[in-house]
Amino acid sequence: MTSDGSILVTGAAGFLGSHLCDRLIAEGHRVHGIDDLSTGSTRHLAHLRGHPAFSFTVHDIARPLPPGLDDVTRIFSLACPASPAYYQQHPVQTLLASTHGVWQLLEFARERGATLLQTSTSEVYGDPQVHPQHEGYWGHVNPIGLRSCYDEGKRCAESLCFACERQYGTRIRVARLFNSYGPRLRPDDGRVVSNFVTQALAGVPLTIYGNGLQTRSFCYVEDTIDGLIALMVSSVQGPVNIGNPTEHTILEVADQVLRLTGSRSRIDFHPAPPDDPVRRRPDITRAKHELHWQPRIALDEGLRRTAAWFAHPMPVAAPKAA
Ligand code: UDP
Repeated sequence: MTSDGSILVTGAAGFLGSHLCDRLIAEGHRVHGIDDLSTGSTRHLAHLRGHPAFSFTVHDIARPLPPGLDDVTRIFSLACPASPAYYQQHPVQTLLASTHGVWQLLEFARERGATLLQTSTSEVYGDPQVHPQHEGYWGHVNPIGLRSCYDEGKRCAESLCFACERQYGTRIRVARLFNSYGPRLRPDDGRVVSNFVTQALAGVPLTIYGNGLQTRSFCYVEDTIDGLIALMVSSVQGPVNIGNPTEHTILEVADQVLRLTGSRSRIDFHPAPPDDPVRRRPDITRAKHELHWQPRIALDEGLRRTAAWFAHPMPVAAPKAA
């Protein structure tokens, strides 16, 4: 990616956002991070404090953007709660982040000729009736269910992006991210990998919701970040699935976590949450052909690295100034 202008990352203090900031700074870019810290943490950015190429503002993306962003030429839009446990407690804020927040970023991008990459989600496919999910599939989403604040918010964000591209020529990219995991997931985030790893390390029962035969396809954070950057520098039209196409049942994930951590925790079964998708696996043909991207880190290796970090959450070394 060329380093003309600087890069705005919204949701910079989150799991993916903080890894993205690290990568962009390490590649020699100037980065402005914003985050309202509703789910993110400045701990994830502590090693960047004082770095000459990095600035950070605590800011809610649903409010008018802060000053000082005049040199921005690229925007990574990541600000939105992503954990079902959290977003279901804050459905209004979740919708506003993806609608009002993304609308403001699109206006900003249009005025400055900047490129906006919107991080959408596999949730736009809902509980899919097509498997694996390719970008042409329209999805199967409950528009008023507990997950709808996230799913419909992200669907509206996509619609806004394409509307602005059609009507104003705004430069957009849309990534549909499937489940991503790795160091810096919040231990209390409620998602399956962070739950299982923290439970296994603490020697308490692993909580499986439903019968554990539902599937997900887990992409290690490093691969996800590679995919986002490849998409930003591409000229791809239309949304692109970014995810790992290797599908696992939740029971398999529990078994792998127990094996990798050497934990003797037992497995407890709990009722399945409403509208929990039964299966999910990306078709990444488009990303492979058009971005020359595919994930490289298998679940086994990714879980090993994730468990090592949860056991000893070391601060990350500060990238060198460019
Ligand atoms: N899940 C589980 N136990 C947990 C957390 C999640 O069995 O402690 C299941 C959840 O019901 C879902 C899958 O794991 O079927 C992935 O859930 P997660 O919240 O990580 O992400 P989602 O893909 O549902 O957004």
